[in-house]
Amino acid sequence: MLDSIATVSLSGTLREKLEAIADAGFTAAEIFENDFVASDLSAVDLRLLMMDLGLRNVVYQPFRDFEGLSGDARIRAFDRAERKFDLMQAMGTDLLLVCSSTLEVASGDHARIVADFRELGERAATRGLCIAYEALAWGRYVNDHRVVARIVQQVGLPSVGMVLDSFHSLSRKIPVSSLENIDPQSIFLVQMADAPIMDMDLLQWSRHFRCMPLQGGLPVTEWVAALMQIGYQGPLSLEIFNDRFRAGLSKTIAVDGRRSLIALRDDASRLLGEDGMLPPRPPVELTFVEFSAAQDAEGVVEGMLQAIGLRKVGRHRHRAVDLWQGSENTHVVVNRESHSLAGSFGLMHGQGICAIGVRVPNRADAAQRAKALGMSILEDPADNLSRRAIPAVRTVGGSLVYFLDDDALDGLWQREFEIEMTHFSPVAGGSLFFDHLATIVRYDEFLSWLLFWTSLFDLRACQEVDLIDPGGVVQSQALENNDGSLRLTLNGALGTRTLASRFERHFLGSGYQHLALRTDDIFACAIRMKRAGLPILVIARNYYDDLQARFGLDDAFVARLAAHNILYDRDAGGGEFFQVFSRAIDRIFFFEIVQRENSYNGYGAANTQVRLTAQRRAGYASNTDWFPI
Ligand code: MG
Ligand code: MG
Repeated sequence: MLDSIATVSLSGTLREKLEAIADAGFTAAEIFENDFVASDLSAVDLRLLMMDLGLRNVVYQPFRDFEGLSGDARIRAFDRAERKFDLMQAMGTDLLLVCSSTLEVASGDHARIVADFRELGERAATRGLCIAYEALAWGRYVNDHRVVARIVQQVGLPSVGMVLDSFHSLSRKIPVSSLENIDPQSIFLVQMADAPIMDMDLLQWSRHFRCMPLQGGLPVTEWVAALMQIGYQGPLSLEIFNDRFRAGLSKTIAVDGRRSLIALRDDASRLLGEDGMLPPRPPVELTFVEFSAAQDAEGVVEGMLQAIGLRKVGRHRHRAVDLWQGSENTHVVVNRESHSLAGSFGLMHGQGICAIGVRVPNRADAAQRAKALGMSILEDPADNLSRRAIPAVRTVGGSLVYFLDDDALDGLWQREFEIEMTHFSPVAGGSLFFDHLATIVRYDEFLSWLLFWTSLFDLRACQEVDLIDPGGVVQSQALENNDGSLRLTLNGALGTRTLASRFERHFLGSGYQHLALRTDDIFACAIRMKRAGLPILVIARNYYDDLQARFGLDDAFVARLAAHNILYDRDAGGGEFFQVFSRAIDRIFFFEIVQRENSYNGYGAANTQVRLTAQRRAGYASNTDWFPI
């Protein structure tokens, strides 16, 4: 299958789009009519440019409202088509996409539609051109690929075939099994788009929310597997209308497009029980986070770690790097080396998390998968903690993810660090474990982050939720592995006055905004933090009155929550969640301590407006009273 993408999927001018498409490794593209009409490239210029870029022009599209007309309107439709044939011959494509009519005046009579396509197909064939008919989900009479398949069969010309568009079919819940009965020779083009599951007008859903495979919730993998099974071998072409993509960088979106198609084909072949084309998505768990602290002369990061209840357990044998632990398997690295990746990261972004380490079954396989997905791999970053080669991949925001397997982890900490404790024992108040990492992502990079994680690792994307910040709405989506040992949240705001957008400005891009650590005893932890003098985010009293009313909690319990500024949530299954927040370092980074009881699986979304408002009140813009160290 040829990898293709429609120019409408990207931002930029037609030339910029095509260059980005070629750079990302596509070998084909669809020319969207509006992109061509607005371009200063002539049809011949376009042909030469695409030849230079090594791109095949798979289709010119769309040709609208053609079939079922009569009288003058029918004559004009054919004249219009002839003009497009001229253009197609000059630009070097042999396929015209005709989408089903939305016109009220058109007829839905199949015999007439068949006659129209027979005549169009005959005219096209005299020029060596072909016609591909597509059922728009909102077509007036034809809105189902099964109907198009019947029409194409009745036309019975080799120059007339069909377009399958995953969005048009799957948005209407047409069963994937319907592909089994289609002759693959009659499929001239397959267009791929995913979409988040939404209950909305089909046209609006399609125009604004289409996304790439693995970024949405439609059964696109099953769809491609069914196409593979019937032996379809033509182009697989992304056709995506998405507001974020229109605002994004064409190069990034094109790279994402290739990534999604590579992962999609691999997933589909596995679904068919075949070997995949790349190493499988590894199961993954978080083993360490690394703070960049080269500019942290006052030791704010370490001061906070200590106050929260992590324990400094060792110092790197050769570098200015300290090792902290919250539990036996919860490692936090504080890197104060200026001449290092962490140091450069800190200069650019400030103090915060510059890398994480994840445990995978095989680090070389994980790196190979990342590479095959077009990710930027550092085979052995010069300042990695270990003397063993530990590959790392660069995230969308530039931080690193190290791949560690049991071989790399075996004795890693003891070998590299002077460890003062032989057996880790937690401080009073108990151990701390990784719970989740919250990422602030740029609005137009939201789906890039989502694709990065879901194409690389075995993670589940949870339902997206809207969070209310006093400065605007923030879209938030969680990604989790099976047992909850890796949880990430992506948060992106469209406006510029939210906490998330202020993070972006101060941090200069996307990155981790807070680390949530889990305790088994939030009250003990809160007492410990208070004693250590850690500034805690102060929660409004009104919140606790409401909490009591909502959940019928007893007075003493609510008073304890309020005394420690602990937020509380309860789910339908009786799961309970507790959260307390530190104030922020440098207006950027803060910690959250959580406790989960009875399998509570969320992130306290119900409390987020209260928390964000408290952070705004705390004077997020002022840097003077953050941390008194
Ligand atoms: Mg389409
Ligand atoms: Mg959180």
